[in-house]
Amino acid sequence: MNRMSITLRITLWYSLFMLAVVLLMLAFMLGISDTIIQSNAQNQLTTIIDYNVEEVDHDDGEVEVDDDFDFLKNGVSSLVYSSDFAWIAGQLPQGFPEETEFVDGETRQVSSAGEQYLVYDRKVTFKKHPEVWVRGVLPLDAVSGIAGTLLQIAMIALPFLAILAAGGGYLITKRAFRPVRLITRTVDSITEGKDLSRRVDMDSGRDEIHALAATFNSMLQRLESSFETERQFVSDVSHELRTPVSVILAQCEYSLGQGAPEGEAQESLQVIERQARRMHRLIAHLLTITRMEQANFQAALSETNLSELLESLMEEANATAPDGVLLRLDIPQGIHARVDSALFARVVENLVQNAFKYGGSHVDVSLKAENETVALRVSDNGIGISTEDQPKIWRRFYQANPSRTAGEAESMGLGLAIVKQIAHLHHGEITLRSAPGEGSTFIFTFPQG
Ligand code: ADP
Repeated sequence: MNRMSITLRITLWYSLFMLAVVLLMLAFMLGISDTIIQSNAQNQLTTIIDYNVEEVDHDDGEVEVDDDFDFLKNGVSSLVYSSDFAWIAGQLPQGFPEETEFVDGETRQVSSAGEQYLVYDRKVTFKKHPEVWVRGVLPLDAVSGIAGTLLQIAMIALPFLAILAAGGGYLITKRAFRPVRLITRTVDSITEGKDLSRRVDMDSGRDEIHALAATFNSMLQRLESSFETERQFVSDVSHELRTPVSVILAQCEYSLGQGAPEGEAQESLQVIERQARRMHRLIAHLLTITRMEQANFQAALSETNLSELLESLMEEANATAPDGVLLRLDIPQGIHARVDSALFARVVENLVQNAFKYGGSHVDVSLKAENETVALRVSDNGIGISTEDQPKIWRRFYQANPSRTAGEAESMGLGLAIVKQIAHLHHGEITLRSAPGEGSTFIFTFPQG
């Protein structure tokens, strides 16, 4: 049940409820309509006959029927008989058995040849004259015909109304839950794209769900501004650190230049220079990350011959490949895509340098375009990454095996965080397949156009 949407659950609930009500009503109508209509018919019959009785009189030994006597009214046929049951006036409905016995003041049901009739007789007595009988006959098929028509109307109208109510209710509920779907979609897109500037885009309304969306938007607003403050702070600090670090580096270079000190002093200066370089790189990385995180930052995407770009990048990479590491390429000619070439070069450099650092005897780089999607693949047969570490290596400053990289001035655990950001800026994604001891394959896929 919980797998169904609330809209569907509500609709299902009241549709079933309406169905039950309709069935109950139909059963009720079927059950009582006959009784009610019959008792109505009975009333009608007795009223008409009781009235007609007043319109019969004796005049000079002759039975006289007044003009106001209703011979046929509302389906009731009225007849007058003499005291010895001889017919005087009126006409029996067709099929009614003439020999039907007379009973004074009692309504009975008589059936003949499959037809049902209601019969009501009244004996009218006069002071000096012999009595007469007034008989009323009402064929019941007319009555049950009305009941049948009523039932037929109900059988069509009630389910139709129930379907109309269910359909209308479904649409209203669906509409009412639209903002909830919008909220879900917005949260999803924020989770996927990390774009906190997005808001639940909704028309004005006063109901609870609109209030929820408004609260959600103001929460996003606060989150966005606190992230922005943090990002701005890191960016400002990095800027501020750039000058002193450059000065330290320049001073080290100068001191290690001509007339350099000897022995321990020289070693100290070299350590300072190495660390200053590391700080310099760290600041550059931080500035890159904070710049790309800016809400209005856009990659400068332009049509690029990726095959050529990658080949020239690989020439440079080959020059920096450690001894004994073979760089193998599979780059088909003429693959074009819309990329920011500086950022794309950064991805290639980070992935290939990692493959050199953590790799084994060979590194494979390939490029492929298929179904409007480009895939850049960098794989090595090196140390690999454990399943536990695989989701963590994208975090800033995370290093899966810091002991191995401790001596590396280059290693800071920021490279893959930058790669991931660049992949996102290209509306693409970066995936990893790796097993410890067997090597790793990083695949950057992004749309060609
Ligand atoms: P680092 O500067 O440490 O290389 P990265 O963000 O580039 O930082 O990588 C994060 C971590 O992911 C690395 O410290 C390393 O443990 C792991 N890693 C990255 N690439 C590979 C690879 N090709 N093989 C094995 N481990 C890797």
